[in-house]
Amino acid sequence: MDRREFIRKSALGVAAAGILPATLLEGCASPGAGPGDKTTKKMKISFQEGIAPGETLAEKFDFMEKHGVQGFEPGGRGLAGRVDEIKSLLSGRDIEVTAVCAGFEGFILAEEPETKALFDRTMREIIVAAGELGSCGVIMVPAFNHQTPCKPHTQQTRDYLVEQLADLGEFALRNGTAVILEPLNRREAFYLRQVSDAASICRDADCAGVTCMGDFWHMTWEETSDYGAFFSAGRHLRHVHIASRANRKMPGEDGVQDEYREGFRALKELDYDGWISFECSTNGDRLETVPAALDLIRGQWEEA
Ligand code: MG
Repeated sequence: MDRREFIRKSALGVAAAGILPATLLEGCASPGAGPGDKTTKKMKISFQEGIAPGETLAEKFDFMEKHGVQGFEPGGRGLAGRVDEIKSLLSGRDIEVTAVCAGFEGFILAEEPETKALFDRTMREIIVAAGELGSCGVIMVPAFNHQTPCKPHTQQTRDYLVEQLADLGEFALRNGTAVILEPLNRREAFYLRQVSDAASICRDADCAGVTCMGDFWHMTWEETSDYGAFFSAGRHLRHVHIASRANRKMPGEDGVQDEYREGFRALKELDYDGWISFECSTNGDRLETVPAALDLIRGQWEEA
């Protein structure tokens, strides 16, 4: 029996025994196996640091609370030095840390050992900080197009990636968090472009600490169906990014192109209870475009 066959049979055995585990992590996505209650599932909205208007993080949090945004997605760069600041700013607020967005140096598929070692060291530092903040996971990309020399796009590289991710996922689990694979569009990262491919890597890594996400903006170019993409990720889906579909502005700034209902319908049917996090800029005044974007996606969620 090869590894793939072993994983398949093990998964079937676990499923048959009725003990397929939900996520070990509180506050993170743990979609159920079947259709959920589409009418009552609430949307959980998160903002990256640059989304809300405000000069300081405290002012941004004030704005978020006023508008019912309960999730905050910090960047990973320098996060270890910001843990105390973020904890104290969030103390007494109805906001929690969601995912942590990248911020490491080097990359996991680097050919050069020193570049890989840099990734291992900086990624683990961020994972530890993410765990201290109660984050549901650290977002990572296996290799951006500009990152070279990179291991070739072969079966051997995929096997290597799966093994490396399993190690990293175990480390993340021990720290109370996870790693989240993010597929990007082909202009940024040819290696991993579709949500279903990321989910398949998660399945093969066979570790609850290896999860994936979908970003509506990247999905515009790579997916043939938002519904199919999210639904295929199933229990491996940990996080979602949202932006306008054509220009990565606030949802709604690209007009009728900003359609999310098919994707939302899959999230509802999966009982997805993770976050939908804003990752975008704006052409307008944030005091107006951010509340308008919230109204738009809340309306589409209701209709999905
Ligand atoms: Mg993204």
